Amino acid sequence: MKTIGIIGGGQLGLMLAQEARRLGLRTVALDPAADAPAFAACDGRIVAAYDDAAALEELCRQSDAVTYEFENVPGEVLVPLVEKYNIPQGFRPLYDSQDRLREKENARACGFATPDYAAVDDERSLREAAARLGYPCVLKTRTLGYDGHGQAVLRSDSDLAKALPLLAVPCILEAFVDFDFEASLVMVCDGVRTITFPIGRNVHRDGILDLCFVPAEGLAPGLEERMRQTGERFMQACGYTGILAVELFVKGDRFWFNEMAPRPHNSGHWTLEGCTTNQYRELARFLAGMPLEEPRLAAPTVMKNILGRDLDAARRLAAQTHEGVYVHLYGKRESRPLRKMGHVTFVGCDAAEYAARWAERFA
Ligand code: AMP
Repeated sequence: MKTIGIIGGGQLGLMLAQEARRLGLRTVALDPAADAPAFAACDGRIVAAYDDAAALEELCRQSDAVTYEFENVPGEVLVPLVEKYNIPQGFRPLYDSQDRLREKENARACGFATPDYAAVDDERSLREAAARLGYPCVLKTRTLGYDGHGQAVLRSDSDLAKALPLLAVPCILEAFVDFDFEASLVMVCDGVRTITFPIGRNVHRDGILDLCFVPAEGLAPGLEERMRQTGERFMQACGYTGILAVELFVKGDRFWFNEMAPRPHNSGHWTLEGCTTNQYRELARFLAGMPLEEPRLAAPTVMKNILGRDLDAARRLAAQTHEGVYVHLYGKRESRPLRKMGHVTFVGCDAAEYAARWAERFA
């Protein structure tokens, strides 16, 4: 029986472990928290820091293939392991995604349009870049930003002063895209073939993904196909294998790369029930060397992220029976208003029905 090693034990690791088990695979996860969600579903657990080289090596020794569900694994520890053990995605997609400047340069070089951007390191380069890109624009730290942390929208010269604290670390200034909506491409490539999950419309709230609607109603004709083709060519041009999620801004019949993550993605949770196969299962199949399965939409689906503020509503929903409603709670002990605690999938539901029937249950 093959064993998959997972660096990181959050909800993405939990769902990967659950799907791996359905395929007859074992899993072992490494996470610094003894009560990490994934440990509940894994066959083995290693409680250690992400930069604990000996613990990571132990994870690799116990595994036939290793993956990561946590983006900031440092290269110093991963690179030596990639040379010695089977880590099929390698370090490259992580490296490319760990710095927003490098990430956008790579995206452009490999076929995606991106918003205009400039590297900024101090007040002078910020002023110059803002003059070139115009307002509004978005200042982001180049590394370690997520869910809107480490960024600020600048609307005029008078916002420059309050953005200066971000410049304690290298930043990137981006033109603001007045998008119609956001979308993500979730792809798995085995080196020859790339499968792409149906594209949905993502809605963010407080900088965090709140809702996904699949299919994305109102997508311009032919746009989904162009997104898929651009994504597939990107995987090939970069030489990436395994899973990759690319977040896009969409306006009319155009789309721009925003960021990417070489791991299962929050916007792909809906595939567990709304699709003929799901992102975790296909990643596990890739890792185990099994052939990939082409995903197809099973029914229109809505995914609602459950943050701490929605937890009571989700628990009430879980205690009821509603056809096509699937409540996932990740078992995190400590709830905070903006912490991801679970998600709910509404299968056979579209945006209008969600608004009429379910939206008011949540804060
Ligand atoms: P990010 O961490 O880059 O994904 O940014 C978090 C959210 O901020 C995105 O999902 C968008 O809603 C918004 N955002 C980020 N960059 C831009 C941009 N260049 N133009 C417009 N909105 C943006």
